[in-house]
Amino acid sequence: MKPFTTLPLSQVFLDNIQSLKYETMTDIQEMSIPPILKGRDVLAQAKTGSGKTAAFGIGLLHNMDTQRYRVQALVLCPTRELAEQVTGEIRRLARFQHNIKLLKITGGFPMRKQEHSLSHQAHIVVGTPGRIQKLLHKGALILDEVKMVVLDEADRMLDMGFIDQIEDILAFAPTKRQTLCFSATFPDEIKALSQSVMNDPVEITVETQHEPTVIKQFFYEMAPTTKAKAVVSLLAKHKPESTIVFCNTKDSCRKVEQELLATGLHSLAIHGDLEQKERTEVLIRFSNGSCRILVATDVAARGLDIKDLSAVINYELPFETETYVHRIGRTGRAGSEGLAFSLMKAKDSVRLDLINEFTNSRYIAEHLEFEESCSVEDLAPSMITLSINGGRRNKISAGDILGALTSKNGIPGDDVGKIDRQDYITFVAVKRGSAARALKVLEEDQIKGRLFKAMIHDS
Ligand code: ADP
Ligand code: MG
Repeated sequence: MKPFTTLPLSQVFLDNIQSLKYETMTDIQEMSIPPILKGRDVLAQAKTGSGKTAAFGIGLLHNMDTQRYRVQALVLCPTRELAEQVTGEIRRLARFQHNIKLLKITGGFPMRKQEHSLSHQAHIVVGTPGRIQKLLHKGALILDEVKMVVLDEADRMLDMGFIDQIEDILAFAPTKRQTLCFSATFPDEIKALSQSVMNDPVEITVETQHEPTVIKQFFYEMAPTTKAKAVVSLLAKHKPESTIVFCNTKDSCRKVEQELLATGLHSLAIHGDLEQKERTEVLIRFSNGSCRILVATDVAARGLDIKDLSAVINYELPFETETYVHRIGRTGRAGSEGLAFSLMKAKDSVRLDLINEFTNSRYIAEHLEFEESCSVEDLAPSMITLSINGGRRNKISAGDILGALTSKNGIPGDDVGKIDRQDYITFVAVKRGSAARALKVLEEDQIKGRLFKAMIHDS
């Protein structure tokens, strides 16, 4: 594993990467950044969580002419959340360049505002295909000076049926450009796409299989009617700090949610029906420790930067083996042991065979003994999320909030957790015991010379 200092980047850029605590490059970064910096097209495959964003983000930033206020790079992502995450990561990587302008353009936000922002120009645009295409056709987004195009989570975009939009969008960009395509899997459709939109790409693949020793996998066969109760019992028994329960359908999500609710377990769900604002909130509350259980469909969860989970529960086995490998790959990272439980019907044994074949293992379906009712009291999350109606656009910084809570109001710094800033709202996690006091402070004290409305997110 090589350090970033082996790359031909400016010293300020390297210093900033170091300040992000990125010391050595991940495999995909080590293999893809050098050809990207040389200007080659790159078609890269690596599993979720392997650092693909920084791989292309470093490439984009290295190439940027910040004096020239034109869109020079376009990043397409399949979902709004991914666009949000990618924007955040590029912003962190770009901290060494104060004048760089980054715009996130996705559905779920007013188009008029986006047109207005675009009229003031930007260096980098990150967005979802639908909205980008609309703004291109309106003439609000101009790609004439684009030097780089990135297709992030390309497989996902194809799964979601974005192929026509992508081809249409690329037709607006100069043919003489650098195109980077990142994907977690490498189906034939990606190869076809790369042939049509890329120029002699360097192909890079990083092993997708996971260390079998780090993730403990269990397969339980049971009647479908007992599955929801089995989920509760697994949670009660293992008390994982964070768990995603994966479901194949929204309907299953609902069943699991209902059972958890009936048992008094605090969970959140993420599926296609949620509005953008709700999805963002759910993800923030899950990742800041205010909620220990997330119930999700693959479509909603794929590609999101949720990792280091203590456990993954497959409420049902996915149809594709690769999906299984992805799901469980979110647990047991960085040396810590992860748990992966799969609940299956007798009919699913064929799927288990395929998983065994693909991962070169020999798991068998077991019977799960469990009690009908179990104690879940100590599964309450330690944190709770509060928000104020001010964010990045109101020039609120994380330091402002931390300062307000801790300085004269005496909430211990250790009781304050993650602070997530959005454009017009900021979420802060605090220890449950300090929640009431924190709410009072946020409501009654001025921050940046202004009073904000605060609320607790707890249901
Ligand atoms: P991917 O797109 O491959 O799923 P991400 O780009 O979202 O993965 O990165 C996953 C996480 O790893 C992010 O939180 C990111 O900040 C972090 N990360 C990226 N590169 C490094 C590195 N070289 N060292 C440590 N952490 C890294
Ligand atoms: Mg990614």
